Amino acid sequence: MNENSAHLLERYAHVAGAEAVAQMRQLAERLRGARVVHVNSTAYGGGVAEILHSMVPLMQALGLEVSWEVIQGPPEFFEITKSFHHGLQGHRVSLTEKDFQLYEEVNRREAERLEDKLREADFVIIHDPQPAYLIKYVPRRRGYWIWRCHIDLSRPFYSVWRFLEKVVVRYHASIFSMPEFSQPLPHPQYVIPPSIDPFTEKNRDLSPEEVFETLKDLGLDPSRPLVVQISRFDPFKDPIGVIRAAELARKFVSFQLVLAGGGAADDPEGDRVYQEVIRAAKGQEDVYVFKLPPDAHRTINALQRAADIVIQKSLREGFGLTVTEAMWKGKPVIGGATGGIRMQVVNHHTGFLVHTPEGAALRIRYLLFYEEIRREMGHKAREFVRQNFLITRHVRDYLALMLSVCMGSPDRLELEATGTCAWPSAKPGEPPL
Ligand code: UDP
Repeated sequence: MNENSAHLLERYAHVAGAEAVAQMRQLAERLRGARVVHVNSTAYGGGVAEILHSMVPLMQALGLEVSWEVIQGPPEFFEITKSFHHGLQGHRVSLTEKDFQLYEEVNRREAERLEDKLREADFVIIHDPQPAYLIKYVPRRRGYWIWRCHIDLSRPFYSVWRFLEKVVVRYHASIFSMPEFSQPLPHPQYVIPPSIDPFTEKNRDLSPEEVFETLKDLGLDPSRPLVVQISRFDPFKDPIGVIRAAELARKFVSFQLVLAGGGAADDPEGDRVYQEVIRAAKGQEDVYVFKLPPDAHRTINALQRAADIVIQKSLREGFGLTVTEAMWKGKPVIGGATGGIRMQVVNHHTGFLVHTPEGAALRIRYLLFYEEIRREMGHKAREFVRQNFLITRHVRDYLALMLSVCMGSPDRLELEATGTCAWPSAKPGEPPL
């Protein structure tokens, strides 16, 4: 291990604990040199890109040969995959035969472009539906292919799921963020919740001066209470519901509400929703809507740190990274009682789960009133994240999964055991598994 890698791991041990790093190292030892390719559909914006920016270098530091590929496609492709996303989250969407064909055609082309890498990899981890059909067009693959679904699939719109299922069944395993999100599939399914990296620009410690300066730059008053929601402008993040909640709460308490976010390269809907939010905020006192560039990590960090309360009032959510980011900064979170947020926020302990704008308004009032409770909840929130949702735990789970897949899914992995595992199982040129 070179000096940089050792230094990186040391830093994580300092924050996540020595044991978390020791576990990663033991598992990685048995996968040393394994070629891993992650594939998703955007290099910035959204939770998956956020995670990969941290996970890839950490896995590399642990001795694996890891790369990250981003599939490309025309705007229509991303319109279609956005509908897939909504459909998989349970919404009725209208997709034509031509849409499915275009989606498949882009996957075919991208498979051709990435073929050498994908064929040679020991482990290919495909994130979400956008690149799911690649597997169909890489016929002589040798490694293990794993489908990582970040979406809540518990109640999908069936025409979309039926189409995807046709290829998902070809994977060796799939990963979901919560058990409830999965679907019956003929291969092992793993539950791995996402995580955050404490050292990124988004999450690193900031000085009070840096936070103060950011607020000033944005025209906010640092001496007044602040409630913040950071999200892409997406109907499922319910920005309009947040504005409504603030309007109700404001009858009793005075505070500034910030809705800040940008777009993701694979999300074509952002502008329309942003315009809707601007219209809803018009005439409302103390509502600030900021459209952020993709690299506004420090601004987001400062807003989360400056907030008295962070809201994430999603109506559907796989796992809200913004929730965990805020909790790591010691903030109580008011989260929509949906999807992964139900596992992230411990109701009444690290924040509150809410179903309606009225519920959110009630909790805003309560938390703004009781400073001591805010502090206590924030403290518990940070510890909860340290123990469960840091990138070290996430990487450990991926490594354990890789070992488990190539060892035939044993119930137990002995961390002290020696010897490497027999990856990959299929030799080049053999028929796909
Ligand atoms: N994010 C960002 N800029 C924005 C909006 C969000 O960098 O304008 C980040 C946010 O801090 C979080 C991730 O993107 O790290 C969003 O992940 P989440 O799981 O909350 O939602 P998703 O966008 O994946 O649905």
